[in-house]
Amino acid sequence: MRKGRIKIDRNRCKGCMLCIDACPKGEIKQGTAINKAGYNVVEFRNNGECNACMLCAISCPDAAIEVIEIIEDVKK
Ligand code: SF4
Ligand code: SF4
Repeated sequence: MRKGRIKIDRNRCKGCMLCIDACPKGEIKQGTAINKAGYNVVEFRNNGECNACMLCAISCPDAAIEVIEIIEDVKK
């Protein structure tokens, strides 16, 4: 299975939560941190469920999410 993780740019995030609804794996949650603009930003849960599907990044109106696909080392 494809694995991924995301990086959220806290200072771009406006806390709209569209990405939370978009993620089919429930990997994004409302956080407790407040950014410079006063928005309550979201956080990556990092539960190992992210599959780099990009739906969160596509749904974000502020381009605050970067998706990173994890390439596993297949050498044995
Ligand atoms: S890339 Fe897909 S699975 Fe990973 S956090 Fe974004 S929406 Fe969820
Ligand atoms: S969709 Fe973008 S701006 Fe909205 S909460 Fe998610 S990261 Fe923040």
